[in-house]
Amino acid sequence: MVQRYQNYIDGAWVDSASRKFTTSINPADHSDVIGEFQSSATIDAHSAIEAASNVKGSWRQTSSVARGGYLLKAATYLEANLEEYAQAITRESGKAIIESRGEVGRAVALLQYYGVEGSNPVGTVVPSVNPNILLYTDRMPLGVISLITPWNFPLAIPIWKMAPALVYGNTIVLKPASATPHVATLIARMWESIDLPSGVFNLITGSGGAIGDELITNPNVSAVSFTGSTKIGMQIAAESAKRGNRYQLEMGGKNPIIVLPDADLEQAAEITVSGAMKYSGQKCTATSRAIVVGNVMEEFTSLVVQKTEALKIGPGSDPDSIVVPVIDQASKENIKSMVKRGVEDGGNILTGGGVPTGSKFNRGTFVEPTVMTKVAPDSFIACEEIFGPVLSIIPSSDAEDALEIANSVEYGLSAGIFTRNLNSVLDFADRIEAGIVKINGETAGVEPQVPFGGMKSSSSGNREQGKAAIEFFTQTKTIYVDRSAT
Ligand code: NAP
Repeated sequence: MVQRYQNYIDGAWVDSASRKFTTSINPADHSDVIGEFQSSATIDAHSAIEAASNVKGSWRQTSSVARGGYLLKAATYLEANLEEYAQAITRESGKAIIESRGEVGRAVALLQYYGVEGSNPVGTVVPSVNPNILLYTDRMPLGVISLITPWNFPLAIPIWKMAPALVYGNTIVLKPASATPHVATLIARMWESIDLPSGVFNLITGSGGAIGDELITNPNVSAVSFTGSTKIGMQIAAESAKRGNRYQLEMGGKNPIIVLPDADLEQAAEITVSGAMKYSGQKCTATSRAIVVGNVMEEFTSLVVQKTEALKIGPGSDPDSIVVPVIDQASKENIKSMVKRGVEDGGNILTGGGVPTGSKFNRGTFVEPTVMTKVAPDSFIACEEIFGPVLSIIPSSDAEDALEIANSVEYGLSAGIFTRNLNSVLDFADRIEAGIVKINGETAGVEPQVPFGGMKSSSSGNREQGKAAIEFFTQTKTIYVDRSAT
């Protein structure tokens, strides 16, 4: 019998008003039904927001040291349950188990970081022109914040939003992606297990199309933090701006790497394939374009093809799998049609381009890792996000031309360069239009204690993680105290 899960509102597990459910399935084996989840309606989102709003005053009054203490307890809980959470991530998102363990480890690190942040100084004392005046700044929470998250990092992304939101004194409503509601219920269980006060964290599952509007437009919501596609993000921006609400958007990418002729080609190919193919390219920071300068094209391409063909395809639960299933059938069809379009536009498939065959793959949504050459820099496949294991190799005449190609798309999330020349490194770091810059490193993979976010259509510009998160999750108050009158 398939287990049924509830929403978590005001410290209690509750059914949605709709009494309707959706199932979540394992992308590696569609016959493996993980559970039934609430198809929440507007009224459920309303209740969750109300619960968060009712306790926003008491949570704000709780000292930030105590708020941080809850996060540290959650980190300990998560660390103790790492394997269970990692297995759940792999089962629901398809991710390779080693990467799922890494995702839980990252969530633990985020909770620890922001747990300690609760004891760190906020605000500054600034000299006043008047010696009688004590002049200082303080940080105030925003109130209720809606968190709308994607499926590809079903634990780490909600945690990297909620840890700073909570420690800086906000209450929250989480709406996870419809593809990964089970991991979201495990997040709720974590907060329940460590006795976070009721109403501070609330979870509702259901379709973004049905409940997204309430999460953005309810007058009790002060801000929305969203990660997902640029299309939905832009809608959220427009709705939030109409209400004068704050919004934070992290969205799509079309991440390039540039290979200069002096690069260590073996290392460059290894890292490029890893960035493009792990988790089947379903990371916003995955490498999607390899722009190769000059006469190293042939050698680099041959290394990339060789390394891609050596990758093992299989379910994430198999520790040897590198290329895992894509999230669902719609995604599989989309990847196939984008590859087809790439060929129609003149691209040449060197490896992959189809779907793997064999009994191991019949029940899941697998796609072959694909490398294409002769891709024109302005073609559809070179400009649009694929979110699949597809690498386009683009020739370029010199470093200047390569930089121009790298910057020619609407996205600007992550970018890398492979070279041993210091001037090329510094020029690239200065001129590339990307929020994350890697030198001789993979476009994917970031550390939680530094700012994260993109430029152009990849982001609203306000950074997540590290110390930068305080800018979105609080507002600054400037206080003048005239001692002469007291
Ligand atoms: P998505 O379709 O935009 O969905 C993201 C979230 O928005 C989901 O919870 C979705 O709910 C919800 N949503 C859908 N329609 C909505 C609406 N009208 N109002 C409010 N919320 C709505 O993205 P995805 O397919 O889950 O994730 C893949 C995308 O995320 C890629 O573009 C990737 O680059 C991006 N991403 C970016 C980052 C980053 O940090 N830059 C990180 C990870 C992923 P439903 O699932 O119910 O539709």
